[in-house]
Amino acid sequence: MNKTGKGRKAIIIGSGVGGLATAVRLANRGFDVTVLEKNATTGGKIQKIEKDGFTWGFGASLFTFPELLSDVFRECGRDPEDYYKVHRLDPICNYFYEDGTRLSSYAEPEKCAEEIQNKTGEPAKNVIRYLRKIAGVYESTKDIFLFHSLHKLSTYLTPQTLRALVNISNIGIHKSLNKANEQSFRDPRIIQLFNRYATYNGSDPYVAPSTLSVTAHPEYNSGAYFIDGGMPDIARSLEKLARELGVRFLTSTLVEKIETDKGKATGVYANGVLHRADIVVSNMDVNFTYKKLLKEQPAPESINSQRLSSSAIIFYWGMKGTFTELDMHNIFFSADYHGEFVHLRKKEVPDDPTVYVFISSKLQKKHAPEGCENWFTLINSPNDTGQDWDKAIAEARKNIIAKLSRALGRDIAPLIISETVNHPCSIRDKTLSCQGALYGASSNEAMSAFLRHPNFSRRIDNLYFCGGSVHPGGGVPLCLLSAKIIDELIA
Ligand code: FAD
Repeated sequence: MNKTGKGRKAIIIGSGVGGLATAVRLANRGFDVTVLEKNATTGGKIQKIEKDGFTWGFGASLFTFPELLSDVFRECGRDPEDYYKVHRLDPICNYFYEDGTRLSSYAEPEKCAEEIQNKTGEPAKNVIRYLRKIAGVYESTKDIFLFHSLHKLSTYLTPQTLRALVNISNIGIHKSLNKANEQSFRDPRIIQLFNRYATYNGSDPYVAPSTLSVTAHPEYNSGAYFIDGGMPDIARSLEKLARELGVRFLTSTLVEKIETDKGKATGVYANGVLHRADIVVSNMDVNFTYKKLLKEQPAPESINSQRLSSSAIIFYWGMKGTFTELDMHNIFFSADYHGEFVHLRKKEVPDDPTVYVFISSKLQKKHAPEGCENWFTLINSPNDTGQDWDKAIAEARKNIIAKLSRALGRDIAPLIISETVNHPCSIRDKTLSCQGALYGASSNEAMSAFLRHPNFSRRIDNLYFCGGSVHPGGGVPLCLLSAKIIDELIA
């Protein structure tokens, strides 16, 4: 490990998963690192929520690519097992359709294909062909789209990247994910199932390019995982390692300005105090970084014209009772998936939304009192453009309860004994994410990957960006990669 950072100070603005992983990596390079976080605790969108004896994660729930997390620990000479425990999920997710179909997905292509054939009649060979194809697309594109800076010439001069560029016309940027899925499957339920993966980065499967089919790859071809304490455990473990490496945390500290001098970032202001640094890394949403912290600098044109990903309404319900037909991850599909996205495009909350229910207490008993379950109940919603959220939340609650009660054959309303709600405005305020978008910029356009902000500033030296609003994109694994890319850029 080269100790590029020895004798140099680094400031990280924000302690989301991207900020925490960057703090660890820079401390490991010898930097003297301080993290400034506006909230009282670390984690951002993976912070912990506790109420009435129940525990939930704020946002992210599905954990894939665990090796990207363990790499952070290994590169610091630590054994990840000393910090957190990971379990592979089998099955991954239960799917419930309005016509009464129920099926489960598995991380073994053959087993999954057999289940799909048995439950829907979709030929197993179509599923296996599809899963093989997306594994191929992932392998041929990961070096260019995920693992390195897309914005440095050196990235384009490796054999892997040149191969990816040659193959780019074959990876499906010119047709929609829905179109590609219609060409791959004949059963509408399976088209719907694989269309859902567009929502993993807040996109619309009827508009987003079919390249997004790769989003299903880790789950089916490599596996979905549960980290023992849930996603907040990722923040806890990274914070623990960071502190061991000497990182200082200033919580309840809002950064108000990035200080620059002669085209270089030289520190940040928080509570009127200047914290000087040799490098500044913003884990704050890149839109807000420009609009709130760099008011005197013009934001890049790409930021001003960028459309943002969708958001969500989440009910954190403490349920009195247990449901054997539910597993950890459960999806209750809408009857009209296309109609759901038409509502979202019109910036409305759908009246028959697809409902996701995540129950970590299925594996982590201490997340709910005896005889109870902790339901993280989420529907996709548009990001905030001034909608009447009180009304939208009340309607969503009524529709979700009716839908789940219908599917589960019992009235769930009287079983809700604890309730907390998040929605686009509260997500915006609690994590400082522009319009409450869950994943930064939307991936609906064919060239979205190239339009995302780089991990460094082109105009201000020593200023870097990590987290879900910049390259390579939203979601815990990609935020971890943004930290790795910054580390490489600095090294
Ligand atoms: P963030 O989590 O956005 O945190 C940024 C931090 O910076 C916050 O703590 C904020 O308070 C702090 N901050 C911002 N500005 C300042 C400032 N000026 N001064 C001080 N502090 C500041 N991903 C998955 O992989 N799987 C999933 O299943 C999944 N589901 C999701 C469901 C929901 C409801 C949500 C909200 C997200 C989901 N995601 C999922 C996305 C994933 O959680 C995020 O992409 C990721 O956690 C974002 O991390 P980040 O590094 O961008 O930082």
